[in-house]
Amino acid sequence: AKSAGKRQWCHYQPSLQAGLVARHELNENLDTAIAESAFRLYYQPIVDLASGALVAFEALVRWPHDRRGMVLPDEFIALAEESGQIVPLGAWVLERAAQEAAGWHAFSSAARAAVGLPPLRVNVNVSARQFRDAGFVDVVRGAVRTSGIPAESLVLELTESVLMRRDDRVHTDMHTLGELGVGIAIDDFGTGYSSLSYLREFPISILKIDKSFIDGLGLSQQQYALVEGITRIADTLGVQVIAEGIEHPDQRDLLAAMGCPLGQGYLFAHPLTPDQARTFIEQHTTP
Ligand code: C2E
Ligand code: CA
Ligand code: CA
Ligand code: CA
Repeated sequence: AKSAGKRQWCHYQPSLQAGLVARHELNENLDTAIAESAFRLYYQPIVDLASGALVAFEALVRWPHDRRGMVLPDEFIALAEESGQIVPLGAWVLERAAQEAAGWHAFSSAARAAVGLPPLRVNVNVSARQFRDAGFVDVVRGAVRTSGIPAESLVLELTESVLMRRDDRVHTDMHTLGELGVGIAIDDFGTGYSSLSYLREFPISILKIDKSFIDGLGLSQQQYALVEGITRIADTLGVQVIAEGIEHPDQRDLLAAMGCPLGQGYLFAHPLTPDQARTFIEQHTTP
């Protein structure tokens, strides 16, 4: 856009203006939506690649909007981060997801225990801005307490942007969360300034390898070696790996063969409504 000539600039300005108007409107609607809890959570299964067993669900937020239809998070999370609205929205997501998990436990934990499976976990995305908020740890503690789920059943998915600022607050909060017993996952691993030293420095229990690495698995020897190497190092450190964005059976087979324990992607299921998630649990619990 910077190199755009005069003619293009004239062309560009009205759409910029329109963008700002849409942005402003979206921001105002976000406030109302937060106040009225107008959001919905969808749940995407995470499975054991060797056995096919259901292990967890990742909660993914959506915003059903009068005119825009089902608005996806890529359209409003960044906006909510900029404005700080992510703090109340993120708290709602945590509480709602923990409550949903308590519901799953009530009808599936006994049957799962009978076949040696632990209670279902729920993974929740946490943005950097949300993590930095002074009340964050209390929100997590509250969500666990109010729902009554074991802390181990809640997993926070953080991106590397949270861990990059190695200040005291980040350290203290990460260790408080670790002691609380909640799981901590590094999301989108491999896309940022990935550093395996995070795994030493923080109580990380899960590493999610970004879809971009999974896409090239069968195509490039290098990509395969990279994913295998990450999986092996993680395993040595007692960190579980989840491969994201698995779409093809051959990707699943390659990952299972290299010993990657867990996977997630359209091959297994798209994000599901709460009702669909319950049906999925029923179909994947009883023999
Ligand atoms: P993410 O955390 O990396 O989540 C995975 C995204 O990939 C989801 O998109 C999911 O629907 C999509 N996906 C899953 N499997 C496949 C696959 O096999 N192929 C392809 N092409 N895509 C797949 P979604 O739901 O649109 O979410 C986008 C991003 O929005 C998430 O990326 C996450 O960063 C953010 N997000 C979602 N919910 C929340 C939330 O409650 N709080 C925060 N802070 N961020 C959220
Ligand atoms: Ca995620
Ligand atoms: Ca991810
Ligand atoms: Ca992502």
